[in-house]
Amino acid sequence: MSDYHGRFAPTPSGPLHFGSLVAALASFLDARRAGGVWRLRIEDVDPPRCPAGAADTILRQLDAFGLHWDGPVTWQHDRHEAYAAALERLKAPGLAYPCSCSRRQWRDHRIYPGWCRDGVCDPGKPVAWRLRSDLGLRPVVWQDRLFGEQSFDPAELGDVVLRRKDNFWAYQLAVVVDDAEQGISDVVRGFDLLDNTPWQRQLQHALGYPEPRYLHLPLIIGEDGQKLSKQNLATALPEQDEAVRPLLHAALVALDQAPPRALATAPVAEQLRWAIDHWEIARLSAEAHREADAATS
Ligand code: GLU
Repeated sequence: MSDYHGRFAPTPSGPLHFGSLVAALASFLDARRAGGVWRLRIEDVDPPRCPAGAADTILRQLDAFGLHWDGPVTWQHDRHEAYAAALERLKAPGLAYPCSCSRRQWRDHRIYPGWCRDGVCDPGKPVAWRLRSDLGLRPVVWQDRLFGEQSFDPAELGDVVLRRKDNFWAYQLAVVVDDAEQGISDVVRGFDLLDNTPWQRQLQHALGYPEPRYLHLPLIIGEDGQKLSKQNLATALPEQDEAVRPLLHAALVALDQAPPRALATAPVAEQLRWAIDHWEIARLSAEAHREADAATS
């Protein structure tokens, strides 16, 4: 039995687009190639950003592309107690502190200067909770499987928010607690999340969690050179099989896996079988790919 545990963790702020397909596919292939488990976690920790029905659409889209996950879906909206327990563990040794400052107050600084570290500046005002980054100032270093050694200076990272003033949990805390509790050994995700990783490494360290391995993927950019995102309304993935097949092929091309041209019209199960057998990270190029190139080559 492999001890590989991977996951795909979309935020249901809209349907999946080509960039998210590439991330889901890479994490699926990496897990299946290793004979490991691949889980699905819906990161709906910020409800105002998650329109009704978006998560269901994501589940249907993954299904249409043959990306079948193991076990039940995890929903972050169910995980309040786990996040609260983690925050308590950080509060006890003084690693987390309440902060009343607003972004406007520190707008002349690049990162939050830590004014509330030794006592809330404006008692009585709503507070966020932040992680202290100034204790044990060591560089945050890890080896990315594609981008190589990454090193960040804690003084440049600032004190990351763990719980927001509106009482919603911050993504950084939720993702770290869930990855640890689900025993995730390998995080495979888009390059746009690489600069979140140092905060997650700091939190894993503060909570005494094991550190997963990381593979950040080359970014897929739109024809206009902009990052694809739900915000710039990148096209939603189709669910009809005739449209899904060539797009799955294009995603394999975007991942530099050089799938045979004849596979472009093959059923998804056949394409995925080929892709699992041939999955090779060494083929991935760290260069950004344009969506149009990927979809037409
Ligand atoms: N929920 C995040 C997103 O959709 C991804 C989190 C992760 O893979 O760590 O951008």
